[in-house]
Amino acid sequence: MNFCSHCGSPLEFRIPEGDSLPRHVCPACGTIHYQNPKMVVGCIPEWEDKVLLCKRAIEPKYGLWTLPAGFMENGETTAEGALRETWEEAGARVELGPLYTLFNLPHIDQVYFMFRARLLDLDYQPGIESLEVRLFAEHEIPWDQIAFRTVKASLELYFRDRANGGFGFHIGDIRAPSGVLQPGLVVPIATAAAVKE
Ligand SMILES: [Zn+2]
Repeated sequence: MNFCSHCGSPLEFRIPEGDSLPRHVCPACGTIHYQNPKMVVGCIPEWEDKVLLCKRAIEPKYGLWTLPAGFMENGETTAEGALRETWEEAGARVELGPLYTLFNLPHIDQVYFMFRARLLDLDYQPGIESLEVRLFAEHEIPWDQIAFRTVKASLELYFRDRANGGFGFHIGDIRAPSGVLQPGLVVPIATAAAVKE
């Protein structure tokens, strides 16, 4: 950030009085431009024993598979954002179930929220950000072509929980550069019955 979005003056990067972190501060109008983590919301659309994945038509990770998810917009809830992204990327109508995974990615200032969801019909079709949308059974998942670690971890947890007969709520941290998922908390509050099969 170089210029003030209020008055157009060049910004300074310094610790404001009474603060503890450097911020983009406008010396002309006094506005402090705070920057905070972005939230990514999405879901795991279920249909019988399969889940719906999207093949990305945009960078980053062009051509790799992902769950429908994207940045939250101002003025919407996490659930509304997940439904919107699922419609935009997969043309899919879903009924959201419980929140399933929360991943902190502090190295890129993002937090992922993935819900479980029930696909309502098979009338899905790729949106402009997707090359292809299709259902995958567990043994068909292209594990080496998954776009994001958050998505891979969510799918791994999903199939593990399903095999064990109950879905929990999982919180984890993914940090650079190791990329290793740090398991964090696993809160077993939901069961398979929470999303109607
Ligand atoms: Zn200003």
